[in-house]
Amino acid sequence: MCYAIPGNVKSITGNLITVDYFGEKRKARNDFYNLQVGDYVYAQGGFVVQKIDEKDAEEILDTWKELFFELKKTDARLSRLHNDKPHLDKDFLKIINRATYGKSISHQEALRLLLSTDSDEKEVLFKSANFVRQKFLDNACCVHGIIEFSNICRCQCEYCGIQSSNINLKRFSLKPGEIINVVADAVIRFGFKGIVLQSGEDLSYSSEELLDLIKMIRKKFPVFLFLSVGEREEEFYRKAYEAGAKGVLFRFETSDENLYAKLHPDSSLQERVRYLKFFKDVGYLIATGGLIGLPGQKAESIIDDFLFAKELGCDMYSFGPFIPHIDTSLADDHAPDIEYVLKALSVLRLIDSSGKILVTTALETLHTQARRRALLSGANSIMLNLTPKEYAGLYDIYPRSSTVDSSVEEQVRNAQQLLKEIGRAPTDLGI
Ligand code: SAH
Repeated sequence: MCYAIPGNVKSITGNLITVDYFGEKRKARNDFYNLQVGDYVYAQGGFVVQKIDEKDAEEILDTWKELFFELKKTDARLSRLHNDKPHLDKDFLKIINRATYGKSISHQEALRLLLSTDSDEKEVLFKSANFVRQKFLDNACCVHGIIEFSNICRCQCEYCGIQSSNINLKRFSLKPGEIINVVADAVIRFGFKGIVLQSGEDLSYSSEELLDLIKMIRKKFPVFLFLSVGEREEEFYRKAYEAGAKGVLFRFETSDENLYAKLHPDSSLQERVRYLKFFKDVGYLIATGGLIGLPGQKAESIIDDFLFAKELGCDMYSFGPFIPHIDTSLADDHAPDIEYVLKALSVLRLIDSSGKILVTTALETLHTQARRRALLSGANSIMLNLTPKEYAGLYDIYPRSSTVDSSVEEQVRNAQQLLKEIGRAPTDLGI
């Protein structure tokens, strides 16, 4: 299985095209290629990343044909609605019924769902979120790779293990040539179509170096590039977009101003949000979100975060649990319970029926089945870690040895197996 299925261009209006995947239609933006109706393309994150030869496309589609419909069947079976349990609270059911019809739910209703402790209610919530995901987005699932290329950081985020004051951490920074090699391996050997370049706020990596890197990657590889490098000058982000990076992964972390200020002595929520609006204006696809279960964070505040991200026009939601790191001032605090995070993701799905929701690696550290459970509770996007093994352990934002120890081959095998078992296909989710 490769990480994208080729689609056939059905219509073109300016730089917006409609792509067909075995009868399913998705929209995508085309900024790079000269296309005509009937051409075959790979799209990722709603962007066309490659135009492919008709013969090659038909050969690939041929290998997918049967499997594609089998996957759909599996997904349809697993996403059936089960809200017929006896004794369910009437108010709870009313909210669930409205949400499963695609109607919006209020802050108070979302909070009622998140705070539910009843095991039947929780099961209904997870299943309803999975039902909504299937109904609005079919069985498409994004699989992106992430390369963490530097753990040098000038920031002092209180929860983060790579904060500038952590003198116990050995710092590293990959050279552009090393990053290119990782991308080459990911794209050519493993078929990745979407890659995130992430680092601390490492200003020793100059904007020119990063821009050259982006241009080089785009020139050599048909891949959708996300940047996750923090706050840099606006000019850099404008040029990076022109150079071919079309996505930004940039969390606002929490929309609670007081909590934000407490945890980020050297930045402000206002500035963080200003960046997100600026990215949107430039044209970037934005992946954003925050931490779930931060010390001092109320459940109300998590719902605020979801509604805030939606209002910002978030294209991909990235919400994961806070995990305490031993070298930080929050070392003695606790990560939230996995059930709580799954409930939160389900509520998020009911808040935005057609958004892309990522399963974060932080969530995956909480339980071996976390990825599967999240994908069955409303999520539809996963990320595999491509950072070379000798460095992955040093990108120590939180303890996560369970997810960084396995090789890319092993991660790819596990992801393919899981997606097959739960009936998900790598068709693009579109825009
Ligand atoms: N420099 C980039 C990338 C930051 S690291 C930027 O500023 O956007 C990526 C994400 O890791 C952060 O946005 C934060 O939400 C998350 N993170 C950091 N420490 C964490 C912890 N202890 N638990 C869970 N997530 C954490």
